[in-house]
Amino acid sequence: MEVTRLMARPGGNHLWLPYTQMQITAPPLTAARTTGTKIILEDGRHLDDGVASWWTACHGYNHPDIAAAVRRQLDDMPHIMLGGMVHRPALALSEALATCLPGDLDHVFFSESGSVAVEVALKMAIQYWLNRGQTGKTRILSFTGGYHGDTQATMAICDPEEGMHHLFSGVLPRQYVQPLPVTSEDEAALERLLQQSSDNMAAMIVEPLVQGAGGMIFHPPSVLKKLRDFADRYNVLLIFDEVFTGFGRTGTMFACEQAGVIPDIITLSKALTGGTMALAATVARRHVFDAFLSDDPKAALMHGPTFMGNPLACAAACASLELFRHQPRLAQVRKIAEIMQRELEKCRDLPNVRDVRVMGAIGVVEIAAIEDMNRLKAAFIASGVWIRPFRNIIYLTPAFTMDEATLCRLTSAVYDAVQAGAFRKLP
Ligand SMILES: *Cc1c(COP(=O)(O)O)cnc(C)c1O
Repeated sequence: MEVTRLMARPGGNHLWLPYTQMQITAPPLTAARTTGTKIILEDGRHLDDGVASWWTACHGYNHPDIAAAVRRQLDDMPHIMLGGMVHRPALALSEALATCLPGDLDHVFFSESGSVAVEVALKMAIQYWLNRGQTGKTRILSFTGGYHGDTQATMAICDPEEGMHHLFSGVLPRQYVQPLPVTSEDEAALERLLQQSSDNMAAMIVEPLVQGAGGMIFHPPSVLKKLRDFADRYNVLLIFDEVFTGFGRTGTMFACEQAGVIPDIITLSKALTGGTMALAATVARRHVFDAFLSDDPKAALMHGPTFMGNPLACAAACASLELFRHQPRLAQVRKIAEIMQRELEKCRDLPNVRDVRVMGAIGVVEIAAIEDMNRLKAAFIASGVWIRPFRNIIYLTPAFTMDEATLCRLTSAVYDAVQAGAFRKLP
């Protein structure tokens, strides 16, 4: 077909891109290199990166400490199975995570993606009750606006409007999806559901403070306190999906710290290796871990991704956590928040702007509707920035190391595009 042939490029017409209608007319950009907070394209253009590669590259790209750690590990042992054997990088990383996570979130199960970390958390929660002799507690409660991944089990707990519930209805397990208890009506509705159905619920899962891919929706820490309280009173485990919010993004190392709430299970991934390698972790509190200790081999957690705890990825993550320990990352996040607050606020009075909100290194301009997404994306690229709006949201999630001048180029690009109406369909 003519349109798809336009995609053809040496060695490049076999690639199937994510979330992309492949019958597209413009070939995608080709990235050649990254440095600091810049992406350098094959054609020589430079883009200031406002996305940090899906929120992962929190220290900027190619951080020398992480690169050196990966190189050292590559010489020693790029990979070894974690079955029946352990290795220093996995031991060191699990210890470092247990140390920086609050409370007794101490038992770390590795996988390679956020979706799988959530799958493991769900499985862990269901088996937790089975191992304690409580059958029937198998369903999951999640919240509207949530996003927890693209695999089958995680699709079923994403927001039904945004997830692929509709397309896959009949295939996906049916779960409970409720509004977060922000208002007293929603709180009462949630409590009614728990009264009726907590006997068949294993866990509730939420992205604490910020629901990311579902629309960069913020909620106050008090909501998380309510969830902790409900989880305790109705005997349901509480899972925090911090795949996006973990590692400083919201202003604290983990979002749960702002609520003073410790979930029973936490999932981590995106910024875990500083954006270098695929790695994820599902971390359980002691009482969850203890429910799997038994004389019965069948009580063990029956899960084990082939590449779990990959030594290269663990070495990258250890180096990333070292940077959090020794560099002023959280202070940098505070500074970024201040700048984005000041600069993005200027968008508030532009026509069609519905909301401007900032939390940590997350800045959001919500507009009434993005009519022409391709035009808006092209406008950003033309002004030398990499910004990926979705639905009616234009957001910035820069690396924490971004300097003020670069950040202001990004916020100005947002302002200019919104002011010019670049989101509008041309008549
Ligand atoms: C991105 C994301 C996931 C899925 O992670 P993948 O690595 O893409 O599988 C899960 N939960 C949240 C909150 C995320 O932001």
